[in-house]
Amino acid sequence: MMSEFSIIDQYCRGLGYIHPETQLSVGDDAAVVDVPVGMDLVVSVDTMVEGVHFFADLAPAKLAHKLLAVNLSDMAAMGATPKWATLALTIPQVDSGWLGAFSDSLHSLASEYRVQLIGGDTTSGPLTLSLQIMGLVKKGDAIVRSGAREGDAVYVSGYLGDAALALQQRQEQGSVNNPLLLQALELPQPQVELGVSLLGSATAAIDVSDGLVADLAHIAKASDVSIELELSALPLSESFMAAQAPIELALHGGDDYQLAFTAPEAVVAGLELDSKFLITQIGQVVSHGDEPVVLRSNGEQVPIRHKQGFDHFEK
Ligand code: ADP
Ligand code: MG
Repeated sequence: MMSEFSIIDQYCRGLGYIHPETQLSVGDDAAVVDVPVGMDLVVSVDTMVEGVHFFADLAPAKLAHKLLAVNLSDMAAMGATPKWATLALTIPQVDSGWLGAFSDSLHSLASEYRVQLIGGDTTSGPLTLSLQIMGLVKKGDAIVRSGAREGDAVYVSGYLGDAALALQQRQEQGSVNNPLLLQALELPQPQVELGVSLLGSATAAIDVSDGLVADLAHIAKASDVSIELELSALPLSESFMAAQAPIELALHGGDDYQLAFTAPEAVVAGLELDSKFLITQIGQVVSHGDEPVVLRSNGEQVPIRHKQGFDHFEK
């Protein structure tokens, strides 16, 4: 049987990109990093629990990807450049094949995004993964939820609803027949580069993890405004349209990990993001009204029927 320490040595040491600002990494009671003068440290954590956030049969490589990707997505939403991570790993038993695949995949995505694993905790119990991520942004520049202003346009990156459609197919049919949809669910691509490109331009941003309407409502409430969404503008993939999936999946389905942001239209036009990222204008910021988010279809207001976003404690 492998000890806790040999697990750490074999699978958690030297993982990811080695940063010069890291003074002390895995191996001491805590890690020490050097936050450069003039920078803010941006910190976030996300946990994934078997049976709640992923199916028990999800391959460890995909699990590692998603765990890091959802955390990178939070950095993206702040405009931060990710640098360090810590990992709290709770595993039911030591399975070297599982650990090897998990660690290799985490290393590969971490290296791609220049993230260094600098510490963590390893315990036995029901499979639960918690990753904390730390990034840097120029002092005071982080993009927050509270900056949306009346007259700003509302944008989203990529496509909406593909991951929710895959989840629905898996739950209702037992499998997902379209690999592109499955990829949206299992291998989300964090929009870190876009987040950094929006620094100084976006007035507010959020990553779409709980569903577009619910997440935009967070911006609306934090900014004391309302947001009007135009249904016909929502970016839907060919796979989504071919499946004739209900628009509610794009509005309320979770797990998109795209960036939704607000900014003056002229500013975004000037950034010429279109050549590099798929960005769609989906609505506008209006003065604070009865609802945080209002849906319009060809200008006419339509009611929001569906429950708004995923809530772990909702009964
Ligand atoms: P302590 O008992 O002092 O908290 P641990 O025995 O839990 O330390 O961990 C020893 C070292 O290994 C620490 O530097 C810790 O950050 C690191 N570590 C433990 N588990 C992990 C993990 N899953 N990933 C990365 N580093 C880890
Ligand atoms: Mg200690």
